[in-house]
Amino acid sequence: MPDLPERRANVSQAYDGLARLLPGVQNVGDSWDEKDLYWVMEQATQISQAVHPEFLCRSGCTTCCRGDSIPIVSSIEWRRLYPHIYGLPEGMRRLIVRQAREIWGPILHMLLKGKAGYEDDGRLRIVPKELEATVHCPLLAYGKCSVYLARPFQCRSFGNFAQSKKGDMSLYMCSQASQHIEETFPADTALPVLNPYIMTLVALEGANPVVAMLPLWIAAHIEGPDFSQTCTLEPDFEAVVKRFQATPGTPSKH
Ligand code: SF4
Ligand code: SF4
Repeated sequence: MPDLPERRANVSQAYDGLARLLPGVQNVGDSWDEKDLYWVMEQATQISQAVHPEFLCRSGCTTCCRGDSIPIVSSIEWRRLYPHIYGLPEGMRRLIVRQAREIWGPILHMLLKGKAGYEDDGRLRIVPKELEATVHCPLLAYGKCSVYLARPFQCRSFGNFAQSKKGDMSLYMCSQASQHIEETFPADTALPVLNPYIMTLVALEGANPVVAMLPLWIAAHIEGPDFSQTCTLEPDFEAVVKRFQATPGTPSKH
């Protein structure tokens, strides 16, 4: 096997080779081969992890799963994610339901389309500032992602990719991780570029995809103390929020 400097020198070619697979991608998490967007992303991430084991994101950090960092999920991603949630052991499912009720119940209405986000000191926030330290993804359990293999696109990409915005390349990760890379690694350090992966997801989603923040999808599938057997790809999220917040056991609205 080539040594680390040589592998780092060749890594751009490997990323380019993976990006060339994207026009042939046909599914999200189904076939787990080169026709599968998640599989191609996983190959890019694994290469990056192998050649840059020192990146901050490699330390088991879960900060991305907390506070304002709520993944936005489309129905094509939920279709893959939900069977994974439903297949978790009952105790884990019930913990996720409790977390969804206790953490997200009081603020679920703030995630609805057109209502999500407010300005605070020039920064766009999703969850109230005073709750930011305690709020986390309902699927984060015992300090780990409970659905890691089926986690959504945003969770797979954040911390692992660079992105091009109007021709300028930037790192797609938190400010600490970006700063660490910029201060520790050479300026030509290569990461896979996210843009063609986003374009592939958008093409697979088709026109007018159903998109919502992850806690809304979860609330739409909760029945009593557990999850529903049925996966719904077009929930009425307004009705979901009303029903969820009116359920006994859900703390009152924030
Ligand atoms: S991007 Fe930042 S917050 Fe997310 S895993 Fe990496 S170091 Fe942690
Ligand atoms: S789905 Fe998993 S990785 Fe994504 S925010 Fe939730 S706990 Fe974190």
